[in-house]
Amino acid sequence: MIEKEEYIKKLHSYLKKYVASDPTPGEEALYKPVDIYNVPKKEAEEYKYKSIKYIFKHHYENNSFYHDYCKENNVSPDDIKSIEDFNKIPLIADKFFKSYPEGREFAMWLATLYTGELPSIVIKKKDDHDGIINKFREAGLVVTYSSGTSGKHTFIPRSQRTFNAAEYAIAKSAITMLYPEWEYDINGYLLMPHPFKTNVFAGKVCGMYFDVIKDVRVALERELSADLIQQAMQTNLKGRVIRYAMQRETNKIIDRIINWLRKNDKEGNKISFIGAPFLLYFVMEKLEKDGEYFNFGRKGSIVTGGGWKIYEDKRISTEDFRKKVEEILGIPQELCLDLYGMVEGNGWMTQCPEGHYLHVPNTYYHVRVIDENGEDVAYGEKGRFAFLDGLAHSYPGFIVSGDEVRMYEECPVCHRSTPVLAPEVKRARGSEMRGCAEEMRRVLSMDMGGADA
Ligand SMILES: [Zn+2]
Repeated sequence: MIEKEEYIKKLHSYLKKYVASDPTPGEEALYKPVDIYNVPKKEAEEYKYKSIKYIFKHHYENNSFYHDYCKENNVSPDDIKSIEDFNKIPLIADKFFKSYPEGREFAMWLATLYTGELPSIVIKKKDDHDGIINKFREAGLVVTYSSGTSGKHTFIPRSQRTFNAAEYAIAKSAITMLYPEWEYDINGYLLMPHPFKTNVFAGKVCGMYFDVIKDVRVALERELSADLIQQAMQTNLKGRVIRYAMQRETNKIIDRIINWLRKNDKEGNKISFIGAPFLLYFVMEKLEKDGEYFNFGRKGSIVTGGGWKIYEDKRISTEDFRKKVEEILGIPQELCLDLYGMVEGNGWMTQCPEGHYLHVPNTYYHVRVIDENGEDVAYGEKGRFAFLDGLAHSYPGFIVSGDEVRMYEECPVCHRSTPVLAPEVKRARGSEMRGCAEEMRRVLSMDMGGADA
């Protein structure tokens, strides 16, 4: 069996293009640890203190909107002398990132969020969101979004540097937890929109998949734009027509995945899936109906992310999902892991194989769970997920989300040193439904009435 240090070194060599030549403390805290989820507590805290202190000062000094916000809250970098002081760092509500104006002012609004100088672009009247985003892309900026049920998108402006860190982090997070099963010689299926044809964050951030394994198929090959997502969610005739067309496409996607499974099974190849659980769920439902079962064993691995809604009115638990995976694909439950992240952040909470609790990468990512008054709740209590992100270099990543979580100081099952979240993350009451997989599920929905609900 490959030593863990050798394994992570090998991974690092495949991820070279994402590595910053002049790393910030946050980036060092990402690259250096062999096991990002099991750094001795004191060492992890040193990394984290340096990462967050540095990034807070950076935004305080280079982002005028955030600077003013800190002034209003009477906080400056000099007030941060220990990890306990992190609670003084002003948090931004996730709603803020979707309070954008339309048209030309959209670019101005992005400039407000951006820390540093936004590249200048020329916007024409006909440019929609994706048009403006693609122009920024040509100028070296990666703007991505995620959408909610209201049809409003959350836009986050990442510099190439910040986006690279997000990609490096997602690859390292998943592959660390899958130790020692990852190797380059694997055939993969991405259950997401094509990373190079979409600005949907959950799709785009999976670009690293093409670097770490030999062959990647993509479930949704067509371009998925903000406007298409918005139209597909509408209750009018146009929305219905789009959903009807997409439903036929979904059936074709399922057949393609099944054929791919058969081929790899026959050839004895190692396989991997990454992406939205609902698509694989549909695949498994079809296989089960037809009485077709596979036995990939440790030759298969699955990393899911995003919404656990299968249909508009049906949610599945991560536990039921991996039981089904074991039963139908023969992939053991410890190689079926869920990963929790969001468009606003660059940290990935990843399930451990032993207990399927979501471990926090605490060398560069500081998680708080807070109540309505912004106070920390006790370990084990329910509250809002908030985080300070040491990798968010191009926008202030000090954010309180609409997700409801429970955090524990230690994993109840495994030996890793990091704090964990309980496996089931839900949207807090009053927050709209969204998530990595949610926009894709809504577009590819199998239940025709879906988006009307
Ligand atoms: Zn654990």
